[in-house]
Amino acid sequence: MSLIPDDKIREVRERASILDVVSDYVSLRKSGANYQGLCPFHGEKTPSFNVNPARGIFHCFGCGVGGNVVTFVAKMEGLSFPEAVKFLAKRVGIEIEDRPVSAAEKRRQDEREELYGIMELAVGLYREALERSEEGGAARRYLEGRGVDGATAEAYRLGFAPDRWDYLTRHLQHRSVSLDLAEKLGLVRRRDGGGFYDTFRNRLLFTINDIHGRAIGFGGRVLDDSLPKYINSPESPIYRKSEVLFGVSLAKGAMRETGAAIVVEGYFDHLALYQAGVRNVVATCGTAMTEGHIKLLKRYAGKVYTLFDADGAGNKATLRAMDLCLDAGFPVHVVELTAGEDPDSFIRKEGSEAFSSRLARARSGLDYFFRQLVRDEGTATVEGKVKIVDELAPRLAKVGNDIERELYVREMSRVLGVDARSLVRRIGGSGSPVSPAAHRGAAQVRRQRGADPEEMLLSLMGRYPEVAGMVKNHGPGRIFRERLLPAAGAILERVAAGKPVEWGEILDLVEGAEERGRLAAFLVNDEHLVDVDVHKAFEQCCTALERNSLGRVKELARELAATDPDVPRYRELLAEIDALRNRKSQLS
Ligand SMILES: [Zn+2]
Repeated sequence: MSLIPDDKIREVRERASILDVVSDYVSLRKSGANYQGLCPFHGEKTPSFNVNPARGIFHCFGCGVGGNVVTFVAKMEGLSFPEAVKFLAKRVGIEIEDRPVSAAEKRRQDEREELYGIMELAVGLYREALERSEEGGAARRYLEGRGVDGATAEAYRLGFAPDRWDYLTRHLQHRSVSLDLAEKLGLVRRRDGGGFYDTFRNRLLFTINDIHGRAIGFGGRVLDDSLPKYINSPESPIYRKSEVLFGVSLAKGAMRETGAAIVVEGYFDHLALYQAGVRNVVATCGTAMTEGHIKLLKRYAGKVYTLFDADGAGNKATLRAMDLCLDAGFPVHVVELTAGEDPDSFIRKEGSEAFSSRLARARSGLDYFFRQLVRDEGTATVEGKVKIVDELAPRLAKVGNDIERELYVREMSRVLGVDARSLVRRIGGSGSPVSPAAHRGAAQVRRQRGADPEEMLLSLMGRYPEVAGMVKNHGPGRIFRERLLPAAGAILERVAAGKPVEWGEILDLVEGAEERGRLAAFLVNDEHLVDVDVHKAFEQCCTALERNSLGRVKELARELAATDPDVPRYRELLAEIDALRNRKSQLS
């Protein structure tokens, strides 16, 4: 099937956590032993996509796809099986020997891979300069002054660009790296008279990573008060600012665990929270929040907290985030700081416990907005009230939850002294009725697929060694159809060796995507297998198999009757009927 050795494939499958990998594409919530989310392979509004991390498998009860981490990536990224294995290998740091490539092939190799490579070279060089070089002394002292320890510097891959025009340029030249590509990354700039010079000079560098933790850009800060305070990498083929938030690779696990994402503005805000043990944090770092950012956060978290500076710019950023979240139906809360404070200074002054209580007291975005409007416009004049209602009504219309909307309306009508019904009328004009599709989705009853006895038996074998024993006694060849035999054999082997069954691996042995999907459906959610009477279950499976094979015999017999005894097919049919009868007699 592939040229990659089996043990390598196994290693990749074992090291690539299906939960981590799937989470890069799907927002998952814990639900019993499984994680659930909206299926990325078909459109749906209620989650029927399940991941079972203990077994390393996924299955969607809506569209029926299922498999292991390799199958998932293959489908998601449109890769072949070996390509998907390589994709995952790279992610978990397992080297897979490639056949030697020709010079022409090498040239054609993905430019993106080269760009990632150049970023890694630059990160390494700048980290070295920060940690060890003489020129990095000032940057080290600066970090010390801001309370940044070595472990944090390492986790963030902080670096320092010395005050030279060719520090990186020469390093790249020595390694025969294409400076044209480095220019695409914004690491170097083109000189008027020809040649290149470094973009980042005499700056502390924050490495910007994608969700996989690959470096894609830098944020460079001066060490004094000179301007511009920050220079950021421009967009490039690997860095899209509207889709990446600073710190997302460090935060994704914690966002999933807590179900919440805290959004801050600056690199040092992010760092301060991280050092204080708050890990579910991302930073916007000078870019306005976008729909893409919200989509990214939705993959990991169920709600957002904004924590922006208590100033005009921070306030604007808060409102923007609130509007984006409202549009996306994503709950948003606002953590307020006292005027003049920023998260960095707050944490350092007040500590992480004070921060936790601020977080717990965070207001919903609309509540925060409403209070601000009341404070700014006042409720003493008719004009003020009209202005407040004008600002609020279109936003209230976007609140998807009827009860939540009604509670807002009540509170607002009370504070403004406006009749609730007229407020509702005002909202209704711009409001959207709750879509009937959402109701259908909620009421949708999950289809339980008819159990195929052979697949049922496979999953029982993996769970109950006695069933494996019974299957072994009967001979798997008499029970399972050919396509399932390799999987059955592998399960028996594992059970005989006293090892737990690796379902991810077993799924690879099942031929055919449809069959694999059906088996994954059993495995992903096997509450139906808990506490079964194994003897009875085995018997039932056999009875069902018998019934199936009886049906098949009848079918074959019909075909036999219509077939000329002189053609080869006639003998084939006879042989098949014989085999089925044989199987049947063995079962009973
Ligand atoms: Zn699906």
